[in-house]
Amino acid sequence: MVNLPQKFGGILLALAILGLALLPGPGSFFICVPVFFIGFLSFTYPVIANWFLGSYLLGLVCGRVFFHHYQQNWIVSEFMALLILFWVPTFIRNKHSESWKKFSSIFNSRKEEFDKFRGGVDTLKKENTQIEKQLRQIEHLYDVIKEAGSTLNVQEMIELTKEFTERMFDLPHFIIAVLSNDGKKYEIRITSGCDEPLFRSFELDLESNGLAPLLAREKKPIWVSSVEKEGRFSKLRSLAIQSFLFLPFLVQDRVIGFLCSYSPNENFLDNEKFSNFQVFCNQISIGLQKSLLYEKVQKLSITDGLTKLYSHRYFKQRLEEELILANRYNSNLSLLILDIDHFKHYNDTYGHVAGDYVLMEVAKLLKDQSDVTHLVARYGGEEMVLIAPETTKEQAIELAEKIRWAVESNAFAVGRETTKVTVSIGVATFPHDALTNLDLISKADKALYAAKGRGRNRIVAYPI
Ligand code: GH3
Ligand code: MG
Ligand code: MG
Repeated sequence: MVNLPQKFGGILLALAILGLALLPGPGSFFICVPVFFIGFLSFTYPVIANWFLGSYLLGLVCGRVFFHHYQQNWIVSEFMALLILFWVPTFIRNKHSESWKKFSSIFNSRKEEFDKFRGGVDTLKKENTQIEKQLRQIEHLYDVIKEAGSTLNVQEMIELTKEFTERMFDLPHFIIAVLSNDGKKYEIRITSGCDEPLFRSFELDLESNGLAPLLAREKKPIWVSSVEKEGRFSKLRSLAIQSFLFLPFLVQDRVIGFLCSYSPNENFLDNEKFSNFQVFCNQISIGLQKSLLYEKVQKLSITDGLTKLYSHRYFKQRLEEELILANRYNSNLSLLILDIDHFKHYNDTYGHVAGDYVLMEVAKLLKDQSDVTHLVARYGGEEMVLIAPETTKEQAIELAEKIRWAVESNAFAVGRETTKVTVSIGVATFPHDALTNLDLISKADKALYAAKGRGRNRIVAYPI
């Protein structure tokens, strides 16, 4: 097939040289140069050579007919040129046809080899990119392992998971939920670019038949690239979810949490990412388990076993910290000390088991009446304390009264019997009554002692 650019290349080349030939001067030069040129070209680019030749001849004829330009003695060289143009390349080609064929076949086989090699290079390049990508993933995973090992804090661990999930997997929307302390439900601990109420609607109670607990019971990663194709996820379509991912944090056959992601589009994750994600989640599971255990042990160490209130030691430590803050921000801090009235008598009458039950119930009532800013602890025996930051004496007395009333009006069951218990509460406030923690405790204790002296079941605030 004749190639158009080659055609025009030949024509233009011929016309250019012909133009030179039409100028006065030795015409043979303008014949010999093209002849050599065409002869040379005919080996490698026969199509160009042919078109060059055709155009050149036409130019010569036109020059003669229309312009009578050439001298008579030029005719010989013109015809020689034609002869050479036609015959020299053909002659050379025929003479060397065998070696030409050999050369062509070698050239073709080399070309084939080269193409193969080039194909190989392309594949290698692709594989290289793939390997580089995997290497980056491995580096990320290594970072995860390293950082996961360096923290024992659950929230830090979850934030780390979020950061790596965003960096490595580029997920549009996801949540991370972790088993609550009582192990009864999953708590959403972090979200990224998504609608939290939507996930709450999944019901995260372990006993429920919500989607998340249901999937957690399967104890395996679930990737639904198109919810249309999976009947059991059809409910998600009404929430405009098209694809869905559930990755459990599995430790010793127990799902301690999960990462859940969704997208309004199908296929937001490819298979490779999905498998990398599973490796990532396995690493996270181990770190998370470690930090959850640590958190549990830490909580236990500062918790009173019977009442589940904070321990005396933790109360002292926190009181010191809260007083520093109150001092810095120039705010009030009130301390309440509560003691059960005639508790020795109660124990003697109903037994220590019933006494223990009363202690637990009073602790619950105390917690119910407190808010998140308060710290409630067991001071010792049947005495409990409440730290109320940013609380004036009047507000503290009001709070103490609510607690006193809650205990007085409560019925404590002992077998089939219901019993009654009352408490006395002493109140002292920083900075009016005391400036140090020990002094504040001592003033509150004095107030409590006064309450006992004045007949019990009452509140007394320092100064008495
Ligand atoms: P008061 O009204 O003056 O406080 O009289 P009280 O009998 O409560 O006197 P006190 O506070 O001195 O008595 C402490 C009693 O609390 C002694 C002990 O029998 C009881 N108690 C302390 N710790 C526990 C406990 O862990 N369980 C039980 N059941 N009783 C406890
Ligand atoms: Mg007592
Ligand atoms: Mg006491």
